[in-house]
Amino acid sequence: MTQIRTATRRFGLSKSKITAFEQCPKKLWLATHRPELAEQDDGAEARFATGNAVGEIACALHPDGVMVDPPSLSEALAKTSSLISEGHPGPIFEATFEHDGVLVRVDVLERLDSGGWSAAEVKSSGRVKDYHRGDLATQVWVMREAGINLQRAAIRHIDTSFVLSREGDYAGLFTDADLLADLEDAIATRPSLVAEARATLSGDEPQREMGDHCGAPFSCEFTAYCGRDLPQGPEWPVTLLPYGGGRRWLERGVEDLLDLAETDLNDRHARILAATRDGIPFHDAAGARKVMAGWGWPRAWLDFETVAPAIPRWVGTRPFQQIPFQFSLHLERRGGRMTHHEFLSCDGSDPRRACAEALVSNIPEGATIIAYNAAFERSVLRELAASFPDLSSRLEAMAEATVDLLPVARNHWYHRDQRGSWSIKAVLPTIAAELDYGVLEVKDGGDAQAAWFEAADPACDPLRREALEEALKAYCARDTWAMVAVARALAGS
Ligand code: SF4
Repeated sequence: MTQIRTATRRFGLSKSKITAFEQCPKKLWLATHRPELAEQDDGAEARFATGNAVGEIACALHPDGVMVDPPSLSEALAKTSSLISEGHPGPIFEATFEHDGVLVRVDVLERLDSGGWSAAEVKSSGRVKDYHRGDLATQVWVMREAGINLQRAAIRHIDTSFVLSREGDYAGLFTDADLLADLEDAIATRPSLVAEARATLSGDEPQREMGDHCGAPFSCEFTAYCGRDLPQGPEWPVTLLPYGGGRRWLERGVEDLLDLAETDLNDRHARILAATRDGIPFHDAAGARKVMAGWGWPRAWLDFETVAPAIPRWVGTRPFQQIPFQFSLHLERRGGRMTHHEFLSCDGSDPRRACAEALVSNIPEGATIIAYNAAFERSVLRELAASFPDLSSRLEAMAEATVDLLPVARNHWYHRDQRGSWSIKAVLPTIAAELDYGVLEVKDGGDAQAAWFEAADPACDPLRREALEEALKAYCARDTWAMVAVARALAGS
């Protein structure tokens, strides 16, 4: 193991480094001394881009604001100081302060009529999260120590009730949660926290076992490194038991699912144990057939792909609203005749109206709509119904007529290779391995969203957009055909 001796160095810290330390001292140490070991998850880039876009809008809402953006830290400190002392009337963005070697940059600092100051940290979430409080406490501590008379300190997060009423008009997108009065205890811990963080950085790599803290408040980028020497657990860990069942056994010292007896478990968990131990899938075909026999004809096997941008892109939409840009539909008539229909909009325009019209024209009145985890499809249909009154009765009727294949799978099928999950991507390989998603360019919902954002970007090359559209169509069609294959296998046909 690399040992790094750093006793004589006094480490500069920042708000994000202190947040990392609060999550795990080892994380801060690795980020500082061994950053090459970090492995960013797939969504990191998109989250970063969203954070930047939200920050830009927060600044644009204050045209009289001024940005502190000199290249060096000392110049940023000096510029902040002069803006304050010269009485700049508007907000200061990225106002920079330092105390005891801790650097903070305040997203929006505003002068109050009282002569005091108001600070706001802009977040792309729809609510205050626990770790925001620690972030803000660090900011307040440094600003106070730097001589700022702070009378208000807020998390400026997205107001989820905001509706975009005019293109590009984001007045009202944010709401402030002033937390200053609640932060005193957290602020009081900052000096000792900073001292502990420095002591950690000056020592050797800390020993810290992995645990729940590795995933919260952020998924740690050093998980692969820290997990490299962990002893291999049992092939069938008790944590395969869903709905928290496995964790409860783990807390009682049971690690291996096969150490349990069926009599210890509820019916579903007992089925999982039996199928795992014996290698024989649980299959209640008669029960599955009975449920599905109640579904009417024709049957519309439906799957949406959606995006839920933090910043509403289209008039009439809210932050984080699920916007359907694609659907695949396998329409099955009694007797087995099947046709495929699809909708895809990748040009960046509001896809909802065209999507709603395509649903109405492709799904016959009275059809039973079948989805996997149907609450999602129902909610998308209801959002569309609310948006287009002239189509609402048809779309509402579709939502009412939507049934769910997921509980049929959950109640009537289990193969041990599902490893405790009934997601369609877990079930499908146990039933129809030839429909493997692994061969597709777009393999899951996250890939589909990334593909849509890339294709909808006006700068996207037309050939690339065409390729992305084909990949999206292949993926979504696979989703609905997979449902058909799963249903047929569940029924034993
Ligand atoms: S993976 Fe866990 S133990 Fe390792 S540095 Fe990250 S949070 Fe700490």
